[in-house]
Amino acid sequence: MEKIDIILVINSGSSSLKFTLYNIETETKLASGLVERIGADNANMVYRKGDGAKEEQLVAAPDHSAALRLVTEALVDPAKGVIKSLDEVDAIGHRVLHGGEIFKSSTLVDADVMAQLKKLVPLGPLHMPPNIGGIEACEKIFPGLPNVAVFDTAFHQTMPKSACHYAIPEEYYQKYGIRKYGFHGTSHHFVTLATAEYLGKKPEDLKIITCHLGNGSSIAAVKYGKVLDTTMGLTPLAGVVMGTRSGDLDPAVVFTLLREGMSVDEVDNLLNKKSGLLGVGGVNSNDMRDIISNAEKGVESAKLALDMWTHRLVFYVGAYYALLGGADAIVFTGGIGENSAAARATLIEQFAAIGCDIDPELNATLRGPCTISKPDSKVTALIIPTDEELMIAKETKAVMSK
Ligand code: ADP
Repeated sequence: MEKIDIILVINSGSSSLKFTLYNIETETKLASGLVERIGADNANMVYRKGDGAKEEQLVAAPDHSAALRLVTEALVDPAKGVIKSLDEVDAIGHRVLHGGEIFKSSTLVDADVMAQLKKLVPLGPLHMPPNIGGIEACEKIFPGLPNVAVFDTAFHQTMPKSACHYAIPEEYYQKYGIRKYGFHGTSHHFVTLATAEYLGKKPEDLKIITCHLGNGSSIAAVKYGKVLDTTMGLTPLAGVVMGTRSGDLDPAVVFTLLREGMSVDEVDNLLNKKSGLLGVGGVNSNDMRDIISNAEKGVESAKLALDMWTHRLVFYVGAYYALLGGADAIVFTGGIGENSAAARATLIEQFAAIGCDIDPELNATLRGPCTISKPDSKVTALIIPTDEELMIAKETKAVMSK
């Protein structure tokens, strides 16, 4: 079988295209970057060779194909490039938001898979078209090169019906596929494997609560390597309090706002883009750093936003501890989970109630991968940095090696 060494990872969003080129044999990042504001006059490209400094320049990128072409030119550029020819790329891994119930694991893309992906657009109307567009652009620019789709939902496909079905008549699931799917699966998967490795155990022997806390946040209860429940739902709006998303609320809030005269799009925008830390914190920011610094200064609204964030997080971790029948580890990852000692510190007292005894000193000083609980803590608390791009590259290699 042909060796799969060089893998390009693509994350194609509505107006951006992120890329990372790996040598997966050595797990080395060769180059990475993004083209942002695709379609606008001021499209911008960020490029970084290995761990070197970022280079930025304004570019002409009217669409995703043009953006991908610029990326390929940079990768083979005699001065800043990292490969001599595009022929050196062995496969491309794509981040795809939604695999519905069709895709329970990463999949080699062919015409049938493309047709199925298009059928899943209603489940991810904002993300799926650019995700599919990214694959199509690669088919054009790298003809004949294998594309592998890696789904944000796939790792959560092990949830039992009791966890992932809503208590509404079955016909709505049958007709529209309405159920909980969960997201950030690639991150929860990566962190599950990395936690097992860190602890010197097998995922099959561990009960873990993985907390991916970033601008978007989700928690997963992972029992013996399989997801038992997760906080995001049909869409990434559900669950904990996020940067701009409300997380859980009584669904009747939506009917009330509609009856008060707001349009569906306005309510969608309110709950997805103007709520969470941004909506409550009152400091015109969805960034946890701003929320914490203002809370420390005594700004009441920022304190409330932080308290809500903590409350909802403890609520779910406690619930998952019970659902799992105890836990071996609680794991922090994502921008906040990895970097914000102050945000994690708000959890210490209540986590102690389930036997997760975080050491304030370790929490304040260590950086992941590390243990931040006391040696005699019943439940180990860990910081494990996530790497979704690397996981996509590994999955791509695994699919190609089958
Ligand atoms: P995304 O969900 O967009 O991938 P990230 O996982 O990168 O987000 O997380 C972004 C968030 O991480 C920022 O909004 C910020 O609140 C938080 N963050 C990053 N670095 C720090 C830090 N040093 N201290 C506190 N919060 C941080």
